[in-house]
Amino acid sequence: MTQRITVIRGDGIGPEIMKSTLRVLDTLDAGLEYDFQLAGVAAQEETGELLPQATLDSITENRIALKAPLTTPVGGGFKSLNVALRKHFDLFANVRPAISFKGTKSRYENIDLITVRENTEGAYLGEGAWTAPDGSRAESKMVVTRAGCERVVRFAFDLARRVGRKKVTAVHKANILKDVTGMFLNVARDVAEEYPDIEFNDLIVDNACMQLVMRPEQFDVIVTTNLFGDIISDLCAGLVGGLGLAPGANIGKDVAMFEAVHGSAPDIAGKGIANPCALLLAAAQMLDHLDQSDKAQRLRQAIAEVIAEGDRTTPDLGGSGNTEQFTDAICERL
Ligand code: NAD
Repeated sequence: MTQRITVIRGDGIGPEIMKSTLRVLDTLDAGLEYDFQLAGVAAQEETGELLPQATLDSITENRIALKAPLTTPVGGGFKSLNVALRKHFDLFANVRPAISFKGTKSRYENIDLITVRENTEGAYLGEGAWTAPDGSRAESKMVVTRAGCERVVRFAFDLARRVGRKKVTAVHKANILKDVTGMFLNVARDVAEEYPDIEFNDLIVDNACMQLVMRPEQFDVIVTTNLFGDIISDLCAGLVGGLGLAPGANIGKDVAMFEAVHGSAPDIAGKGIANPCALLLAAAQMLDHLDQSDKAQRLRQAIAEVIAEGDRTTPDLGGSGNTEQFTDAICERL
């Protein structure tokens, strides 16, 4: 059966890494049909809107989106398109795995952890609350709900069970931000009792950051609120050699959207040297979501082999290849 998915080529290096990813998916014979839609600067140039209604309608209908990075214009009036998409489709769980690949430049080996970040509440949704007309003062507000905390923590435990993970760590700042992250911690503790088969602990975010750098092997699944999750998942990407290898799934009840964690990299756009791996690994997450885990595994394995070999990877991974040669090498191994 063919699965129709919405594909957003994105801005900057977006079209380059999307081309690579679709080629790999076609080589895998993943049975996908692509519904190409616009968002970001590309959409603004063509339609006058950053996030056209046609794109939203397509995602609603297909329920699965594969999205390359979008450029959010800096300054007045533009909200992050990614935040807008996550909010619009209520994509409450942002799943960001960080897995070591042999052959990458990193101080760590054998990192294998997943950050589950709450994606629809908290600091990122309180932006734009108020700025004094003379610019002397600004306010934003952080809101979480018990239901919002509960569903993301439950998601993290269910994920742990499904993929055979042993431990969930809730990360918070309940000693200082007692109301908001205190609620998150209390809910996490309650939910943890329903999963006696999964080990549970909690850590204050500053300690968690230090522990991640000192002894990352003690972590398995991390669940946390929006802002902390954004920062911690980048820290974890740093443990495995940088953003070029960091994918993210945004999962809601009805819709799921898969993307690279990195941005549109305008500094290297058009040069043909973008590393396609983050989007490829996001495509692997999408295949898992579509019950094609065998193909997802083949893809991860092929990426691992090409990175281990080294010579055809892109410059950010220390190789002398370009996006196309990297993609050729992966396709040869599928
Ligand atoms: P960035 O992630 O685009 O780039 C940071 C650095 O990493 C740059 O030096 C870039 O060349 C490098 N890099 C990133 N991805 C790479 C890849 N695949 N291969 C090789 N090198 C890569 O971050 P930025 O420069 O801060 O942001 C640029 C634009 O992207 C901004 O408009 C920002 O709003 C947007 N952005 C979008 C998303 C998204 O759509 N999910 C995420 C982050 C940033």
